[in-house]
Amino acid sequence: MRVLGIETSCDETGVAIYDDGRGSGAGLLAHRLYSQIDMHADYGGVVPELASRDHIRKLVPLVREVMAEAGCEPADIDGIAYTAGPGLAGALLTGALMARALAYAWGVPAVPVHHMEGHLLAPLLEPEPPAFPFVALLVSGGHTQLMRVDGIGRYELLGESIDDAAGEAFDKVAKMLGLNYPGGPEVSRRAQQGRDDAFAFPRPMLDRPGLDFSFSGLKTAVLTAREQTADYPEKVADICASFEAAAVDTLIRKCIRALKQTGLKRIVLAGGVSANRRLRADMAAALRGMGGQAFYPAPAFCTDNGAMIAFAGCQRLRAGETVGLGVSVRARWPMTELSAID
Ligand code: ATP
Ligand code: FE
Ligand code: MG
Repeated sequence: MRVLGIETSCDETGVAIYDDGRGSGAGLLAHRLYSQIDMHADYGGVVPELASRDHIRKLVPLVREVMAEAGCEPADIDGIAYTAGPGLAGALLTGALMARALAYAWGVPAVPVHHMEGHLLAPLLEPEPPAFPFVALLVSGGHTQLMRVDGIGRYELLGESIDDAAGEAFDKVAKMLGLNYPGGPEVSRRAQQGRDDAFAFPRPMLDRPGLDFSFSGLKTAVLTAREQTADYPEKVADICASFEAAAVDTLIRKCIRALKQTGLKRIVLAGGVSANRRLRADMAAALRGMGGQAFYPAPAFCTDNGAMIAFAGCQRLRAGETVGLGVSVRARWPMTELSAID
């Protein structure tokens, strides 16, 4: 089955074609991503109305490009998947309407995909995918969640952030320090030149039992450090390194706690923050002692992309899921509402 996937939940237009290997070609046949980051950078964050307009501008050219790259005619496509939520309602609608209209014109089914299920399943596109069951840490711009995953659609929420998401904390810290949006890659880059023990930032909620996270106290600690450091502009790298160490340490210790609590050995990390190099290195070190194994998407598929939507949509289409001609999107949509696929 060959599926065209369309992602427009936020500020990246992603389009891809995935083939599950039961036909002629197999795997990811083509993918394209257009990032609106430069446009939103002037505003220090995503402007929803501008995002929707830009998706509309880019969708048709990107669909044409992936079809050409994959050597596909409309008749070669068996279904169209689109991100139906969570995300910006207007941005989601542009991709949903494009997908629904194309599916109607080409006479194939359309299937809505949950954006976070897309992120969660992205590591399954890799050559050595994790087997179920596993623990997943979803760390992105809008989510920080620990899940027990027993199969596609079999998700049990173990813990989540009670305030800011991890990626959001990186973005806000970057803004405080006058660094570019999005903050994650930039803070991480600066951190390499800094000392991670220069500032003693808190590891929020580690002293309490449970698997929830909180990042707003850490964010405030960074702001206080900036204000109380006389030679602050020279200490940006040290602040970045100390912040990154605190954030990564918190994430890893909760992952280890979740593995112990569930008795599982496999951890899957996905979402933009899972691209973080320090997170990957420190996680490997933490797992070594306990015989655990970590799985990640390829760096390009940690942040938003169409490939993860084509892949997740393919799994759901194969299970017979489709939508009618009406199009609806959900700005908020708990992942635990998804139905299980056998
Ligand atoms: P959601 O998926 O929750 O709806 P989103 O789609 O905006 O949110 P993603 O695109 O998955 O989130 O990830 C973007 C986030 O990842 C941003 O907050 C960005 O700062 C962060 N990020 C990207 N690369 C890194 C990195 N190397 N280190 C830390 N954070 C990073
Ligand atoms: Fe995302
Ligand atoms: Mg993004």
